[in-house]
Amino acid sequence: MTVSGTSSRSVKLASGDEYPLTGLGLWKVPQAECADLVYASLKLGYRLLDGAADYDNEIQAGEGLNRAIQEGLIKREDVTIVSKLWNTFHAAEHVEAACRRSLKDWGVEYFDVYYVHMPISLKYVDPKVRYPPGWSYDGTPTGNLVLEDSPFHKTWEAMEKLVDLGLVKNIAISNMAGAMIADLMRYARIKPAVLQVELHPYLAQPNLVRLARAFNIHVTAYSSFGPVSWVGISDSVVAKCESLFTHSVIANIARSHQATAAQVVLRWASQKGITVIPKSSSEGRLKENLQNESLDLSEHDMDAIDALDIGLRFADPAGIDPRLAMYA
Ligand code: NAD
Repeated sequence: MTVSGTSSRSVKLASGDEYPLTGLGLWKVPQAECADLVYASLKLGYRLLDGAADYDNEIQAGEGLNRAIQEGLIKREDVTIVSKLWNTFHAAEHVEAACRRSLKDWGVEYFDVYYVHMPISLKYVDPKVRYPPGWSYDGTPTGNLVLEDSPFHKTWEAMEKLVDLGLVKNIAISNMAGAMIADLMRYARIKPAVLQVELHPYLAQPNLVRLARAFNIHVTAYSSFGPVSWVGISDSVVAKCESLFTHSVIANIARSHQATAAQVVLRWASQKGITVIPKSSSEGRLKENLQNESLDLSEHDMDAIDALDIGLRFADPAGIDPRLAMYA
């Protein structure tokens, strides 16, 4: 699929709901900045907010959203609000409560899309003890990671119930590899509407994108800028590549379109009909990133960026624990 020019700013999900091609990512947005950032993004025209329980800023994101609604800037139904079920809430009996907690924090009645954040089930942590729970069971950075024996089909059944209850319009998956998606398609009563994965010129994932398309699952790319957001987290992988912003292939294309490197990297994905959700805290960059949609890259440009793919993955929980090597 190719989206050209400014003809389309959103795609239709299998449910018929619209899903914007550019949204705002909320990972690592500090609580103190989150409400103003969300408000500013809505004012600039963003209509997709990509949140998650794990980002620890849903209350503040909701404040920004609800300020914009109260001021008449937008209506709730104009915005695609996304949240994600954290790994410690996979057991069927915890899914609804986890979703309701995120809804309450955002101050909304329903989510447009609710993802299972990762196909990783961790031992339940009572939100009264710690929220968001994070990775280790005791909450310390070096603490033990305790798996829970909750198979994915049970989690998915509980996700389907959220749709039945009207809490969620679409259910979705993230960080899932092909074989597991194919298996999910065998038993899902309500199919996943979106697949959110790491995707950028160094990790283009063409086969995964084709598989998702074949199952009518829309793809959202995270970490579109590659290494930038993984400095300090996956430094040994970051050291293996050059910044996409200075890479000569990207820089030359940017120059020829009088665009920025960031816009070219985003447009490379959005022109393929893949949603991008760059995170930024500055108003200038928010604007710049949203405007990727007005670029029209040539086939030659697209092929040149496709050729940068080296299968380089920054987000791999195998680094936390070998039992989490999902892409092995
Ligand atoms: P990203 O690729 O959006 O990079 C963010 C960084 O790029 C920020 O540090 C920002 O300062 C910088 N930046 C933004 N715009 C720029 C511009 N125009 N020029 C130069 N620098 C710019 O990385 P990300 O935050 O990892 O991914 C985006 C979003 O995807 C997240 O915020 C989150 O919502 C989502 N995400 C999901 C998962 C998942 O497991 N599902 C994992 C990671 C991220």
